[in-house]
Amino acid sequence: MNVPVTFVERAHRGIGNRSTAAGEVGARRMMSHRIAASADYPAMEEMRDQARRIRLYALGHLDELLARFSDEVEGAGGHVHFAADADEAIAYIRKVAEETNVRRIVKSKSMVTEEIHLNAALEAHDLEVVETDLGEFIIQLSGDTPSHIIAPVMHKTRQDVGELFSEKLGIEYTDDPTELNNVARHHLREIFLSADMGISGCNVAIAESGSIVLVTNEGNGRLTTSAPRIHVAVMGMERIVPTLSDAAVILEVLARSATGQRLSVYTNIVTGARRPGDPDGPEEFHVVILDNGRSRVLAGDAAEVLACIRCGACLNVCPVYREAGGHAYGFTYSGPIGAVITPSLMGLAEWHDLPYASSLCGACLDACPVRIDLPGLLLKLRRDAVSEGLGPDGLEGALKWFTRLATNPGMWRGATRAGGWSAKLIARQGWIKSLPGRGSAWTDYRDLPAPAAKPFHARWKERQRES
Ligand code: SF4
Repeated sequence: MNVPVTFVERAHRGIGNRSTAAGEVGARRMMSHRIAASADYPAMEEMRDQARRIRLYALGHLDELLARFSDEVEGAGGHVHFAADADEAIAYIRKVAEETNVRRIVKSKSMVTEEIHLNAALEAHDLEVVETDLGEFIIQLSGDTPSHIIAPVMHKTRQDVGELFSEKLGIEYTDDPTELNNVARHHLREIFLSADMGISGCNVAIAESGSIVLVTNEGNGRLTTSAPRIHVAVMGMERIVPTLSDAAVILEVLARSATGQRLSVYTNIVTGARRPGDPDGPEEFHVVILDNGRSRVLAGDAAEVLACIRCGACLNVCPVYREAGGHAYGFTYSGPIGAVITPSLMGLAEWHDLPYASSLCGACLDACPVRIDLPGLLLKLRRDAVSEGLGPDGLEGALKWFTRLATNPGMWRGATRAGGWSAKLIARQGWIKSLPGRGSAWTDYRDLPAPAAKPFHARWKERQRES
């Protein structure tokens, strides 16, 4: 079986299949929850402006904020490691695991660890890694990859999960969500209690106190960071904000934009390891701060994308994401944010088709709690792709033809008339259902409105004559 290598090939696999349909239902549900939560919160627009200011300020002062954060973590007895890339981050975590005789690792949900393929790297060295977020647990059990940045398993139905649990965990088939939840909880509880290391991500890092903030809707984040002997938090270097008050603003918009909640069920603020007299907590606390291309992005003209707070709202509103499904994006990050961040971090050479996975309708900009100009960034990436000779095949030639037509009124009128005549031949009741060649990429999935029989210029002249 050929592995699809382009967005279009991967999208062809997703369009119209059962998983994508399940994902679309979930995305639409989350979108309506966000709209309701925003409508219910009069300060939302002001909070979005504040959140944007905080994120842009942090990006402009990353050096000093990360230095302060690092000092504070070490002051609280923790360890900080700056990793230039995935290999460095993995090597550090492996070293900590080796030095502390770790065998079993529990993880809470973290996109940045997905980005560096941490699980596979640790498992290759005989470390057992267990995902404890329910969605990620299902993904791990099924050997799948996440399709959404906050709801990784949105493309699976409860029947899918029932069959999976029955096959892998040996339980009697059920598709009752509460029962399935309980099965996972019992299975994972034992694993938590015997784990040596907990690895978490980081939603926000606070410079003034050296704290990391984790938001979850399950208690797994709290258990991951407190039950095992060692806690390692992995964060992208852009996650930082200056103060606790700034973090509070981010939390105000994060949960509302992500799931429509006022606040996620669990908000954990972790500062350092267990201190003398503390009843629980890890003996060691490590923070791995990952660059992995972020410094390059920060220095370029797509730096704004690093303001993202990973809420997933842009995915839920995106017509391309909903039709093609999250796996079409081919990497950890999907939807409009994926179409910008993946080529920005990983390079256009391999990912030059992603910026074209958008209709530029602007819904993502409307939804984004920090008002990232995703359509503008997609256009910049398209410009860069074309200037590096990586634009879509035939685009340059097609645009040259369009320019000749559009700058020559006689030719333009002739072409629009010819379009109208040919449409008459193939259109039925105003719609074209099938086009040959590259046009079939459109009509294979939807009808095309037929061009007007009489072009605008001709109608305009008529109207002027009449008036
Ligand atoms: S780009 Fe904006 S809407 Fe999309 S995930 Fe990031 S913060 Fe959320």
